Formats: sequence, C-alpha cells, structure tokens
Amino acid sequence: MDLNSRIYVAGHRGLVGSAILRALQQRGFHHLITRTSTELDLRNKAEVDRFFEQEQIEYVFLAAAKVGGITANNDYPADFIRDNLLIQTNVIDAAYQNQVKKLLFLGSTCIYPKFAPQPLKEEYLLTGELEPTNQPYAIAKIAGINMCQSYNRQYGTNYISVMPTNMYGPNDNFDLQTSHVLPALIRKFHEAKQNHLSSVEVWGTGNPRREFLHSDDLAEACLFLMDQYDDSDIINVGVGQDISIRELAELIQSVVGYEGEIVFNSTVPDGTPRKLVDVTKINKLGWKAKVTLQEGLESVYKAYRDDLLIKQV
Ligand code: GDP
Repeated sequence: MDLNSRIYVAGHRGLVGSAILRALQQRGFHHLITRTSTELDLRNKAEVDRFFEQEQIEYVFLAAAKVGGITANNDYPADFIRDNLLIQTNVIDAAYQNQVKKLLFLGSTCIYPKFAPQPLKEEYLLTGELEPTNQPYAIAKIAGINMCQSYNRQYGTNYISVMPTNMYGPNDNFDLQTSHVLPALIRKFHEAKQNHLSSVEVWGTGNPRREFLHSDDLAEACLFLMDQYDDSDIINVGVGQDISIRELAELIQSVVGYEGEIVFNSTVPDGTPRKLVDVTKINKLGWKAKVTLQEGLESVYKAYRDDLLIKQV
C-alpha cells in the first residue's frame, strides 16, 4: 500500500474496523473508503457489486461481520451464520471481480477445535470438533478462510486471513445481553459502583481462560501483515498470554474502584475452557503486541466514562 492507495475498510464503525481506520489515518493514507451499513448493506450482492465497480478499490480490510458474545451466539445462530456468509462472500467475490490487489480477511480464534492443545497453533484448524455455543459463527469464518485460499489457488489472488484472539478497545459493544465479557464487566462494575450495589454477577465459574488483545494492537498487526504477509495460510494475532475470567473480573474491579463482592453464576455456560493463541509465527515476522491489559483496561474505562458524559449532555 502507498499513501495514495484506494483502501476500503469494511466495518469501519466496529471495534476492529474503527481501529484499522484510525491507524491508516494516523499514517497519512488519504484515499480511505468507508460506508455505514445503512449506506451499503454488505449482505446484498447487487449493492456490493455496484459499490466495488464504482470505487476502484485496491486494498480491502474485511472487518465487517456480525459478532457477539456467548448469549448472542446462542440466541441468534441463524443470523450469525447467514449474515457472515453473505457479507464475506459478497465482499471477497466483488474484490476478485474488480481486481482488488490484496484483501485481508478477519477471522477469529473460535475457528479452532474446542479441545485443541494450547496455545493454539495455526495448523490446528479443522483438526477437531468446534465449541457448540458459537459454531455457526465459526463455520462462517472457516468458510471465509477457505474462500480466500480457494480464490488464491484458482484465480491467483492475494487474500490473507488473520485470526485475532479476543479483542477489546474503543467502540466496543457494551450491551449486557450481546457483548463479550470484558466490556460487559466494565459496565457491570461501573454501574454497581454508581448504584452502591453490594455485588456484581459474573457469568460461569470464573475458571475459563481468555487472552485479550487491544484493538489498536490488532490494527497495527493488520497494517503490518498487509505489507509483509502474502501467504494463504492463516496467521494468529494475540498477546501470547491469557488470564482466567476470575482474574479479569478482579482486575476490572480494581480499575473501576468497586468495593463490593464478585458472585459467580455457574448456571450460565463457560464456553470453551481456554483460548490462547500461539503467536510464534507473527512474532518471527517481527510483530509483537504492545498494550498491556492494565493500560488497555484503564484507557477503555476512561473512554467508557467519557462516552457516558457525552450521552448525558
Ligand atoms: P467467548 O470468549 O466466545 O466465550 O465469549 P464471551 O466473551 O462472551 O465469554 C467469555 C467468558 O466470560 C465465558 O466463560 C462467559 O461465561 C464469561 N462471562 C462472565 N461474565 C460475563 C458477562 O457478563 N458477559 C459475557 N459475555 N461473558 C461473561
């Protein structure tokens, strides 16, 4: 990519897409192309084809997806598989039809088998059964990876697939029913503190382990890979360290400054027991995550409070 390249960031209002857009803007790329979902419904093939024909796009960051936490995946399985298959199929095919030079497809670590050895190496893809709570989403993402690989093989395209671990950052979803654990806990602890509640409910047993990557780090990794990586094999992006949900809850409790109790509700499913990615491959290429979880949580909590203040005005 050079500073004049025509770059489309699909999903630019989401957690990942907005971080990629910020990183591109900071570096001085000035032909950045975006559309909101009301301006362009990526599930609609005719609209996507027309958009690509008009915009002469050279590079695509495909960060648009229907995403959600454990309950959303459980409650809306049809929406998760349909919307994701449609979005990625339309964008990948339109990229090919319109001679896009390179496309970066964002997957997820839920594509790995539930009981794969940890840390998750890229080669574990398709070696075992998936976690049932987010299988429709995972299968859509696996189809997207395979689609990139198949287009590369048959049509000689340069489409790469990047698997980020659990992410957090500004523009996250803080809705308690559909969000992931980290933003949910920030909100729960914040509201408990404001309302002087004696306890905060954390779902599951607190034992599952997760790795958390700040979206600014992921954006840096995506720009790095767009420049340096031209292989059909998937590549992980993570920090290389995980913590238990209990430890995460305690950390957020201290960042928020909440003094009540933490209560675990083990009637809610834990989901996959552990999800830590092996980052050897990307580290060897010369990229490492920089934001520590403590720093990241402090900045996200500050942004969350600032946002609440803006909404009150
Ligand atoms: P996952 O990484 O795909 O399993 O998705 P989540 O981020 O939604 O959940 C991660 C883990 O955090 C699971 O074990 C959840 O049960 C647990 N968890 C604890 N409290 C919460 C909460 O308030 N919201 C969510 N989404 N998960 C929670």
